[in-house]
Amino acid sequence: MIYLDHAATTTMYPEAIHKMIPYFGRQFYNPSGGYQEGANNHKVIEQVRQSLAESIHAEPEEIYFTSGGTESDNWALVNAVRNYRKKGRHIITTQIEHHAIIHTCQFLESQGYQVTYLPVNRDGIVELNTLKSAIRPDTILISVMYANNEIGTIQPIQQIGAIAKEKGILFHTDAVQVFGHIPIDVEKQNIDLMSVSAHKFGGPKGTGFLYANKKVKITPLIFGGSQERRLRAGTENVPGIVGMGEAARLSERYRQKHYEKEKAMRDYLRDKILSEIQLVRLNGSSEERLPGNLNLSFRYVEGQSLIVMLEMRGIYVSGGSACTTSDQGPSHVLTALGLSEEMAGSAVRITIGYENTMDEMHYVFQCIRDCVAELRELSPEYKNLYAVR
Ligand code: PLP
Repeated sequence: MIYLDHAATTTMYPEAIHKMIPYFGRQFYNPSGGYQEGANNHKVIEQVRQSLAESIHAEPEEIYFTSGGTESDNWALVNAVRNYRKKGRHIITTQIEHHAIIHTCQFLESQGYQVTYLPVNRDGIVELNTLKSAIRPDTILISVMYANNEIGTIQPIQQIGAIAKEKGILFHTDAVQVFGHIPIDVEKQNIDLMSVSAHKFGGPKGTGFLYANKKVKITPLIFGGSQERRLRAGTENVPGIVGMGEAARLSERYRQKHYEKEKAMRDYLRDKILSEIQLVRLNGSSEERLPGNLNLSFRYVEGQSLIVMLEMRGIYVSGGSACTTSDQGPSHVLTALGLSEEMAGSAVRITIGYENTMDEMHYVFQCIRDCVAELRELSPEYKNLYAVR
């Protein structure tokens, strides 16, 4: 099996699994327990908090453990409208956000808030002038994802942060696809709120964190006990937090090496496909892009059929985000790029991880070339292109 769906989730670092195991067994104690073993577990999660904070240039008390990216996104948005509604009821986001943001915004619209969904250019990047002109006196939050989960495009986060700071507006970024892969400096980049998920960088599912600058007023989304300084109730997911901490440590240590390896494989596959297969479009910027991401539309090919044929050859890719594969209709990200329904429907997302190899890329290229040729043979429109009149 050749796994090329790392944007959906990553394999865990064996070291992270190994570190988690005792916390399911003999170190099972509740960190709030008033005995030594409970206190030990409390200490362990505080150490993870400290190292996560250091890795993004934040303070430990600015890290709140959550159940992952979705919860962090929900919390960031709902928190902003609750605590800053005296200033206004307007939020700015983009048309290409993950559904954890889009659906939360739609809910907030149903509650009387106003949301501007910024368009992106054909490369999938937010234009700073478009952002500036969308800002209103009643804008309370700008939420722009750091990198997109379908097309891998990286937004000009530092410049967006500077604009938000200048205007005195909170800035949230969904960094779920980025943390562990690209260095983040919340201070330099003027990020007020940031969502992170462990399973995208070699950690376990169901755990993540929200970074919130201490100047941001925070109130709970989840009510109950006094965990996370009374701001996020629920017994801490100790094994999950430990696994996330170890995955973050290893991701940081190997970041440069993994980045270069993934990029070399991605560039090889991209160049080979674009030069040897006709009528293929690369979706999203070729420069401002996560190293392992390729999103390609193969004209006259149904993306879903290509995905199934590749799976029969042991290759796992996807059509869009894992969270949208059960939805009907073309990807909202690809249509925001200006793709027709047909081109959006012919897209395949290939997300490479550091564990993949160049040999795999040779095989993947051959399979894609052969499957695309076979599928085009079945397309009357494609055959018409070459019909001799
Ligand atoms: N945001 C982005 C950009 C994502 O890619 C994902 C997961 O696919 C999420 C949020 C949701 O994260 P989680 O699966 O941890 O809830």
